[in-house]
Amino acid sequence: MNKTITKLADGRELIYYDARPGTVRTAVDSRALEPVASLSEVRRDPVTGDWVTVAAHRQGRTYHPPADQCPLCPSRGGRTSEVPDADYEVVVFENRFPSLGADAPGGQAEDPLHTAAAGTGRCEVVCFTPDHEASFADLTPERAALVLDAWTDRTAELSALPDVRQVYCFENRGAEIGVTLAHSHGQIYALPFVTPRTARMAGQAAEYRASTGRNLFEDLLAAELDQHAQAVAAGDLDHDRVVLAGEHWTAFVPFAARWPYEVHLYPNRRVPDLTALTEAERAEFPGLYLDLLGRFDRLFVDPGQTVQASPTPYIAAWHQAPSGDDRPGLDELALHLELFTVRRTAGKLKYLAGVESGMDAFVNDVSPEAAARRLREVAR
Ligand SMILES: [Zn+2]
Repeated sequence: MNKTITKLADGRELIYYDARPGTVRTAVDSRALEPVASLSEVRRDPVTGDWVTVAAHRQGRTYHPPADQCPLCPSRGGRTSEVPDADYEVVVFENRFPSLGADAPGGQAEDPLHTAAAGTGRCEVVCFTPDHEASFADLTPERAALVLDAWTDRTAELSALPDVRQVYCFENRGAEIGVTLAHSHGQIYALPFVTPRTARMAGQAAEYRASTGRNLFEDLLAAELDQHAQAVAAGDLDHDRVVLAGEHWTAFVPFAARWPYEVHLYPNRRVPDLTALTEAERAEFPGLYLDLLGRFDRLFVDPGQTVQASPTPYIAAWHQAPSGDDRPGLDELALHLELFTVRRTAGKLKYLAGVESGMDAFVNDVSPEAAARRLREVAR
């Protein structure tokens, strides 16, 4: 993998990742851009203990631009974008409208009820392809492998920054999810706190260790694989939640899935984050992940149709163990990807309404076993 680090006109960092060694990237950002300061602050909710990022400066960000003004297409034909070169493979740059920033002003920890801190950290955009129309599922395995290289490199670099506790790589896909740029891309948040979901997982893993002496994630994966082996042996897949079983990775629908279609993809060997994967594990990932994304795109296609009216909206969320925090259970965490859609039938979305948004209590309209069956049916 070839990496070229450059600066945009306003001082933000931009990094080209190229599969070909020796690729030279020299294009200069010719735009006149004023530097944008991040004014965000993180505040701790004393009632739940959750951190909330307050980023009031982001209201002016780019919102559904026309395709000929796409900021993620390469700069070509006299048109300038966020990527100065006329072509690229994978590129990562600092978000112009970040929720978190290195220059955030210091918050104050005033008293136990009003704890705040500077919203330090970093928000990056990852462009998977220069092709405006392509989605992640359209990438070649080689390109998906390069994206994995970029995620891994960013995880290593961002975890090493002072004040960064957790590096979160994710992709939002589809207007239904709130994506404001049509060009396929992902994001990376380097957060100054451990996210609420991760903190809860660490707490569960610590409790599980205390009561069983074992690791929660290792037992969970072993149990799913065991049930899968029994189901296959018996020829009865009704209770099987495994969708894909690779040599190094396993994808299954969790027993208590929150979303209509939700798949968790784990490496079979527990590792804390992307930087700990072996070459063999890295080599198998692109094929499995592209397969899963393809299945998501076929979920709501009726027999006789070839494509659905609008692509399946989804969120793909990498869970990685935080660094630099001594909370119990963090060293029990396991790298995995959680992929889910908010669509429950061809024409219906799952909204987070009173029960979910008001109480964090999910009601799922699709049984996890039925979801797993459907995801196996729509294999290519
Ligand atoms: Zn574009």
